[in-house]
Amino acid sequence: MARHLRIFAAARAAGPSPLDHVPARIAGLIEYAFIQTRMFKDPRAAILHLGIFWGFVLLTVGTANIVTGGLIQAVISMPFDGALWAATLNMQNVVAVIVLLSILWAFERRFISRPARLTYNTDALVILAMIGGVVASELFAQVFEVARFGEQPGAFISNALAPLLSPPGNSLFDIDASGLEIGFWALWWAHMGLVAAFLVYLPFSKHLHIATSFFNIYFRKLKPRGELPQMDLEQEDATFGLRTLADLGWNDLLDGFTCTECGRCQQACPAWNTGKPLNPKTFIMGIRDMSVEAEHGLPLIPNSPSAVSFGLADSIDEKALLAPIVDNAIPFDAVWDCVTCGACVEACPVLIEHVDKIVGLRRNLVLEDSRFPAELNGAFRNMEGVGNPWGQPPTTRTDWTKGLPFSVPTVAELAADGRLDEIEVLYWVGCAAAFDERNRKVARAFATCLDAAGIPFHRRPGAAHGQ
Ligand code: SF4
Ligand code: SF4
Repeated sequence: MARHLRIFAAARAAGPSPLDHVPARIAGLIEYAFIQTRMFKDPRAAILHLGIFWGFVLLTVGTANIVTGGLIQAVISMPFDGALWAATLNMQNVVAVIVLLSILWAFERRFISRPARLTYNTDALVILAMIGGVVASELFAQVFEVARFGEQPGAFISNALAPLLSPPGNSLFDIDASGLEIGFWALWWAHMGLVAAFLVYLPFSKHLHIATSFFNIYFRKLKPRGELPQMDLEQEDATFGLRTLADLGWNDLLDGFTCTECGRCQQACPAWNTGKPLNPKTFIMGIRDMSVEAEHGLPLIPNSPSAVSFGLADSIDEKALLAPIVDNAIPFDAVWDCVTCGACVEACPVLIEHVDKIVGLRRNLVLEDSRFPAELNGAFRNMEGVGNPWGQPPTTRTDWTKGLPFSVPTVAELAADGRLDEIEVLYWVGCAAAFDERNRKVARAFATCLDAAGIPFHRRPGAAHGQ
């Protein structure tokens, strides 16, 4: 984990403050992390994921009890004559079965139904096997324990399964007392070993999201989705847009470590769905892969003289940190395929922001490298010359309103009359609707709908929505 923290320390841009909008951030945690509302866009996957997530969380009570040598049991058994601990065992037995069924279902998705949006690699299989192993070893250790030492109040599934193991001559497996003890001992240690292996493996796996998604969701962007970071074009030593990992904020790097590879963004992306090279999932995975590569060359303690004096900074090589994101995490062509619709952001269950990063990459390519598709030459020239990509005279911007049977005053006109406070709805007509003949029809139709809908300011003479 310390290695991952190095890359966050190398981020140049500031991330969000943990203390701004705390209630909204906590509400987001409950909605997106605990209830996982975004997952329910695919209800079957949501049920499966909730089963594994909540089951795993609830079963840590049993693991904590094992690790502490029964301390949790001793404490919980004190009130109500042990009824609370019996209820805990009851819940754990139910949850263990739910998790094991969910794991089987997850394997079915990976081997049989294979949804196109998922990424198929051994990492997911290893982690599913580990979770299944952790839960199964805990449950079956209890079955052997019950078979050897007697029933446990509340553990109804273990109590029901234990007679299959003993007594000899009267059960399915006929295991004697020492065999039951060895079985219990082996499963107990298997559980401990798997929990330890899981914790060690986690930071190297995409399943690190079980920890990072809480932070990613808490620190999510609270500004309107389309609002982009401002650029100070006057600042001489500024880097415009995003070029390398160092230009990102730490929360952008956290996005990479939080990606679950679920492919919901890929499934929602119009560019990917029309056969273009842009895939928002592989872009975010690419950021993560670049981060993992770069962190090897970074000091554990940035700018630490003592680290240098102990020779801990000798092998530092920041080359990977300064590698361009374009052509590494995302192909050049893909950067220009994005229509900034935000469908990927809307689909992502862990609230990863793709669009701001893609636009940041474009800004850098245009402003620092003058590297963009040839088709944009004309649009850029027109924007520079007359302020719109269509190259139309600015005086024709409001021509789309001609012929409408009602007035559509501009904000400037209302401001000149001192009537700004009359504005209820501001219709922001972009260049496309103002200058493109086909889109002008859309703008006219929209304005007509507003008028027909009886929005009061449409009906009052001279008071309407502005452009
Ligand atoms: S914003 Fe870009 S990357 Fe995201 S879904 Fe739309 S086109 Fe795809
Ligand atoms: S970016 Fe979000 S939606 Fe896309 S694969 Fe990663 S977690 Fe899933």
